[in-house]
Amino acid sequence: MQTSNSILTTSIEYLKGIGPQKGALLRKELNIHTYQDLLYHYPFRYYDRTQVLQINQINAQSETVQFIGKVDDFYEEGEGRKKRLIVTVKDNTGSIELIWFQGINYIKKELEHGKLLLIFGKISNFNGHLNLAHPEIEHFNEQSLNAGLQPVYPSTENLKFRGLNNRSFAKTTSNLFEKINARDIVENLPINICKNYNLCSRYEALKWIHFPETKAQLNAARRRIKWEELFVSQLKIARVKAFNDATKGYTFEKVGTIFNTFYKSYIPFELTNAQKRVLKEIRQDTTTGFQMNRLVQGDVGSGKTMVAILSMLLAIDNNFQSCMMAPTEILAKQHFESIKNVVGDLPIKVALLTGSTKIKERRQLLQELSEGTIHILIGTHALIEDTVQFKNLGLAIIDEQHRFGVDQRSKLWNKNKLAPHVLVMTATPIPRTLAMTVYGDLNNSIIDELPPGRKEIKTIYRNEQYRAKIMDFIRSEIDKGRQAYIVYPLIEENEKLAYESLTKGYEQVKVFFPDHKYKIAMVHGKQENELKERNMQRFIAGEANILVATTVIEVGVNVPNASVMLIESSERFGLSQLHQLRGRVGRGAEQSYCILLGSHTQSNESKRRMDIMCSTNDGFKIAEEDMQMRGPGDLYGTKQSGILKFRLADILVDKDILEETRTEALKVVKEDPNIQNPQNEALRMLLKEQDYQSHWSKIS
Ligand code: ADP
Ligand code: MG
Repeated sequence: MQTSNSILTTSIEYLKGIGPQKGALLRKELNIHTYQDLLYHYPFRYYDRTQVLQINQINAQSETVQFIGKVDDFYEEGEGRKKRLIVTVKDNTGSIELIWFQGINYIKKELEHGKLLLIFGKISNFNGHLNLAHPEIEHFNEQSLNAGLQPVYPSTENLKFRGLNNRSFAKTTSNLFEKINARDIVENLPINICKNYNLCSRYEALKWIHFPETKAQLNAARRRIKWEELFVSQLKIARVKAFNDATKGYTFEKVGTIFNTFYKSYIPFELTNAQKRVLKEIRQDTTTGFQMNRLVQGDVGSGKTMVAILSMLLAIDNNFQSCMMAPTEILAKQHFESIKNVVGDLPIKVALLTGSTKIKERRQLLQELSEGTIHILIGTHALIEDTVQFKNLGLAIIDEQHRFGVDQRSKLWNKNKLAPHVLVMTATPIPRTLAMTVYGDLNNSIIDELPPGRKEIKTIYRNEQYRAKIMDFIRSEIDKGRQAYIVYPLIEENEKLAYESLTKGYEQVKVFFPDHKYKIAMVHGKQENELKERNMQRFIAGEANILVATTVIEVGVNVPNASVMLIESSERFGLSQLHQLRGRVGRGAEQSYCILLGSHTQSNESKRRMDIMCSTNDGFKIAEEDMQMRGPGDLYGTKQSGILKFRLADILVDKDILEETRTEALKVVKEDPNIQNPQNEALRMLLKEQDYQSHWSKIS
């Protein structure tokens, strides 16, 4: 963003107090190369001088505390790696111990009897004896009292060792502010945006984030910086979306015979209003002459598959082929069977392609695909391989998207002269903030209604003591003609252990069901595909009463006759995953049950999660809670994407700002797709600056 001769691009070593050695270290340790990088090295906390406790106010319940203490005594204990430094500090209300296990020599240099320290840290309770391990300490003087909020900077042991501790960061940054003024920090948001959203200037924001005189200044700085961060990200997403929306696509001129016949005479039920609405949205998208990029969200069991099928028939009526990609073979197979089943004797050829399709069969299939005699191809990610060539692919559907990466999505585009229409269907709902970021380039449809007549699934949490009772219950359900799932967690860190607990579980279930009339099938990821298929098929066909499984059955499997879902070690699952598993039952007319089995002792967090599961069946609510508890990074494969990485902004907290920036970004890009109008000069800089920053982070 800065022109090359801007003072902000000056190398960090020229700053007073830095020099070549510290400069090299700053580059290496914190990726700080220039004055500007230092400005962006924000404090992560502030000493709040208004919140100083007295030592007798500190108790086991206090978590982090700040107080002033006079060094009374300090000594080392233990030898070698067990060595520790113990410092007793006191004020006129009492005394308390500080402990260090590392950096002892460095700390010792800071200490002398009678020295006043400002101490900040976490209280630990050591057999009823309170102390603070590795607190932050700072020499306390009268000046610190007047300072209001003082910045605390992230640093590294190495930097601290070379004297770049918290205090010197503050000093260095304040030196920098003596060299620059408001004119050097050019505004990078349009004036009207700053005004409409009540944002302080960029200069103020950077000054106040480092040296706020009041809480109000700090809040203003934080709001402005978060706004800028989220706005840049939304601008980029809006531009991708604008690009997608302007990508030429095939026009599906008509709704033809196949669609109409199917709609009138083949669907065994009435579509819900939500299904009809989403279908209308898809229909609209495919008539514009531009490519469709649409996300369909719907709760488990809301009937996304039927929407997919109808869209594919629409394509066929317009002489296009369709494909549908599922994340697992079991699912692909199941989609294949149920689609074949539901289209019955309509003149449509549906084919299945997965990793285990035999070579000969595959060759034949590829040939028919390129000749256009196959209308619908269902498969796993085997579909995106280059050898898979269509005659005229018009629509690609991706089921249960979050297992696929964005790259895989875009690979489908190259399968025809123009990019096919793309429909992405999520397994469970996703929180709105994620929809705006991770899927922000797609148009969004929501199926917010379940088919009528579904009974609410009853969910309970029980511990091991109830196992026998639970098995009795399952037996009574089976005797009524129903089926049951028993699911074990997949333990990634320890596959062997997971497998052992699964097979042990299987043996245990057999003990509970000794009578040979009860048939038990087992599926897990380590089985040969063929065996897995066979066992799965036994359950789907109703030959097996119980399916013991790992989470391979998590997504999409549809056995309407199953009425019990028992989940072992349920604490090990994420909320959305539990919800998805629970969605395997409650698909038929019968009352269904989900039993969450867990240990006697529960952490508060897992107790809360189980409470949520037992109290609601609403996937949108559950998705929101799941994200709040686990953070967005872990969910939906977004960890690596970088799209959620911000210095200050946090989409869990800054929902309102995210909404504001999305609205504004879409508006800007609509009016000025290439960001080239003179009034958007500032934005052009902002985007360039971002590229500059990501460039640095890539090469470091
Ligand atoms: P999901 O949205 O979880 O993928 P499915 O598409 O598998 O859900 O649908 C769940 C079940 O509901 C299927 O058995 C399907 O046939 C049935 N279904 C879908 N739409 C309707 C409807 N409008 N009325 C009744 N049943 C429906
Ligand atoms: Mg589905």
